[in-house]
Amino acid sequence: MTFNEVMTIHTIIHFKKKCISCGACVAISPEFWEMDEQGLAELKGSEEKEDHQELLVTDEETRRINQEAADVCPVNIIHVKKEEE
Ligand code: SF4
Repeated sequence: MTFNEVMTIHTIIHFKKKCISCGACVAISPEFWEMDEQGLAELKGSEEKEDHQELLVTDEETRRINQEAADVCPVNIIHVKKEEE
């Protein structure tokens, strides 16, 4: 891993209200995802925005595992966005 990769900031974005409760993200990454009492996926430690949840991540492993969660989400409501440096 290079210095640049370590310092790159990404935002995980999750449009929780559109979750169909399949549980795939939790199966991939229980460290970052859990099902809430309503059966919707919750991005642990995230900030609540108007229509989504956001979590800033600064390490490559966290970005990678959340990208995997984004890739398996059948309704494409998890996004990993690179922030400007
Ligand atoms: S993978 Fe997508 S639809 Fe399935 S529980 Fe996670 S956020 Fe919801």
